[in-house]
Amino acid sequence: MSGQHHFLMTPGPLALSDEVKAQMQFDMGSRDQSFKDITASMRERIIDLVEGNGTHSVVPIQGSGTYGIEAALASFIGSSDRPLVCINGIYGERILKILKLRGVQAVSMNASSDQPLSVVDIAAYLEQDRTITHLCFVHCETTTGVINPLDAIVALAKRRGIRTIIDAMSSFGAVDISARRTGFDVLVTSSNKCIEGPPGVAFVIASLELLRNKGNPINSFVLDVRDQWRSFEQTGEWRSTPPTHVIQACAKALDVLTVEGVIGRGERYGAVRDEIVRAVGRYASPLLNAQVRSPVCLALTADGIINTQQDFDALYVHLATYNLYIYSKLHPQTRSFRIGCIGSIKPAWILLLTTAFRDFFDGSRSTEKASIHLESELVQEVL
Ligand SMILES: *Cc1c(COP(=O)(O)O)cnc(C)c1O
Repeated sequence: MSGQHHFLMTPGPLALSDEVKAQMQFDMGSRDQSFKDITASMRERIIDLVEGNGTHSVVPIQGSGTYGIEAALASFIGSSDRPLVCINGIYGERILKILKLRGVQAVSMNASSDQPLSVVDIAAYLEQDRTITHLCFVHCETTTGVINPLDAIVALAKRRGIRTIIDAMSSFGAVDISARRTGFDVLVTSSNKCIEGPPGVAFVIASLELLRNKGNPINSFVLDVRDQWRSFEQTGEWRSTPPTHVIQACAKALDVLTVEGVIGRGERYGAVRDEIVRAVGRYASPLLNAQVRSPVCLALTADGIINTQQDFDALYVHLATYNLYIYSKLHPQTRSFRIGCIGSIKPAWILLLTTAFRDFFDGSRSTEKASIHLESELVQEVL
């Protein structure tokens, strides 16, 4: 056991507030009415946040965000469908991979990972291929933090009678998304990004129309979104054991989000992002133009110094000696690394980041032993 919190500056999991963590100490029976009430309140909060009352319902699925994605794809895309996956990063690629693993004849459109998806290009694709039944894409592509134009893509799909399945894992809670305004079919998010809850549950938000129709035969029990939905609607219960402690914390996190508001949260993250840009600006530059940067995470490049995963590993390990944890993988195509702006990031962590970057890039790292910083006064003060 480590016995202390990492200073998490990752795009999920993230630093939780004390009030959310405090909810994880209560043992509860998963089939008791009091727990069913918590599940119900969590589902209501999410539907309210997405303005989906009367048109959509939310189906929590045990597991990480990817489990929700796979459940949505398995439940709403059949073997005779022909989905188009619009890809500008690794999470778009993952959607395609899941569809292929499931034997679906999916096609894909690949775009540059440092630009938002182009609605014009998607429209042109749909024009020359009239067989497309579903559009799948990522709202905030966490690979670089680029925001894709959700409303415009859904509007385009609707005009053509094409269903939409959206990975909004890292945008929900910090970027405005409205079921009423857009009329998307399916949108997936998870507990441990901008909802600011612990990892362990995904949320599939689907139109009631899709949930009520019989759908294609499904060859999975755990991924069956409709069956899970019917269980919530009919008995208030999860079909199999939910992560009870996580759900309690998540319900609390959604109460907090409702008070802060999605706009307020997005502004708070945006301020953190801009502070990080200032803090490390001497050594690393943002990959994306300011207009397409999400407030969720910041992709940075340090040309000439960080070109390979191995180069980046040295920075990662160096930052960890300050108890600072950023996302551990370099994106090879863009040679960028990312810092998360979400969760309970303390101003002192950003100060520490400034010092850590300076020490690394100005070359003092080679003379210092790992973990030396953890005992330093600076870190102790923050801890
Ligand atoms: C984090 C993330 C995922 C995957 O979520 P897991 O919880 O790691 O399964 C998928 N898509 C996007 C856009 C994400 O940011």
